[in-house]
Amino acid sequence: MLGVFVCHTFRPKQKGAVLQQDNPPSSGLIRRAMDALLTTDRDQRIRLSMSVMAALLMLCCIAALQLVAAAGLADAGHVHWFSVVCSLGLIAVYWLIRSGYSQRWEDPALTFLQIVSSVTCTAVAYVIAGSARGITLPILAVILIFGVFGLSPRQMLFVLFYGIAVFGVALSVAQWGLAHGSQPLALTAAYMVMIVVMLASCTFINLRVLASRKRKLELAQAAANERERAIRDELTGLHNRRFMLEIMHLEGARVQRNHQPLLIAQLDLDHFKHINDTHGHDAGDQVLAAFARTVAGYIRSTDILARWGGEEFVLLMVNTAADNGVALLERVRAAVQESVLVMAAGASIRVTVSIGVAQLQTGHETPIGLLRRADEALYAAKAQGRNRVVLADQTLLETTVATG
Ligand code: GH3
Ligand code: MG
Ligand code: MG
Repeated sequence: MLGVFVCHTFRPKQKGAVLQQDNPPSSGLIRRAMDALLTTDRDQRIRLSMSVMAALLMLCCIAALQLVAAAGLADAGHVHWFSVVCSLGLIAVYWLIRSGYSQRWEDPALTFLQIVSSVTCTAVAYVIAGSARGITLPILAVILIFGVFGLSPRQMLFVLFYGIAVFGVALSVAQWGLAHGSQPLALTAAYMVMIVVMLASCTFINLRVLASRKRKLELAQAAANERERAIRDELTGLHNRRFMLEIMHLEGARVQRNHQPLLIAQLDLDHFKHINDTHGHDAGDQVLAAFARTVAGYIRSTDILARWGGEEFVLLMVNTAADNGVALLERVRAAVQESVLVMAAGASIRVTVSIGVAQLQTGHETPIGLLRRADEALYAAKAQGRNRVVLADQTLLETTVATG
């Protein structure tokens, strides 16, 4: 609501500033290349940069495997096949995100898919890396770091059990299968222990990170709710007196600076005590809520209506000339008079409202002074028989809009 009154200031363009070319041509070229690779869409860019980072990581893994294959430590044929399959997978993931196709799915960044497939590839790499299989452990660690920040707890738990299972198979194949190069069973067991430790630690950190993220969100939400409660009236849902006072001071100062007209109206239900006495306090509450809805339906988006207390309301109208304000209030008054509240018990309740309105006097008047004059006008409306709108300071000039 406050946003309505925020004034935007625009700095004038400096002469000739638009003609200056700050970036050298090469940076423009790099920017265009990055835009082509990662798109200019903010969300897509984040997804694609993550997937490109993951792809670079996998390419490093492939390069390391090629190196050990070239040195004769691993089966070159297996490593070539692995390189081709992994590269095709990376291209497919990039294409799915870049084309926007992945946006049809729940996780458009394909984080889960990428992490599960990377864990699988790393397990395969362990099998084919021969005596250099130790290089796959840091790769697994980096993949899991991506998972810590990108996966939900359920997905991370899946990765934990899946990782243990797939590496369990990989280590068994490497130990007892046909894999190139063998190693002592104790070393295989040590690898398995370290893999389980890595997976479990990353799952634990993932759960902690997400719990603290959730807690932060809850705190922010609670603070927002608290602020909202502090400025709202529970019964009618309108703003309350505290909020109105804040706004009145802010707006009062602003319109005085800008020499704009400002109106404040006090609205008070007529013989409301009688409604309470006749139909009960609950019925009175319903009348107040219905009255608030009726008035809210007539005012403009720039007007602010608040429950001042009891059966009294205050309406603040910015940038409104007195005659326009009085005309709007007259429509409000007539609408209230026309509406009937039908109770569950069958009783129908009618209510009228008296309204006093005053316009801010330019120069010195404070919002509180203005409110006092609106109150005096309301008092005059009551004295003149209620169910009417009275403009302050003009009561003797017959500017009241009286009704029968
Ligand atoms: P007038 O036309 O002079 O304004 O008479 P009135 O009866 O409306 O004014 P008065 O000040 O005598 O009575 C106001 C009544 O409003 C008394 C109080 O019990 C009732 N009231 C104040 N707050 C609430 C509320 O939240 N719910 C209900 N149901 N009644 C309320
Ligand atoms: Mg009253
Ligand atoms: Mg009153």
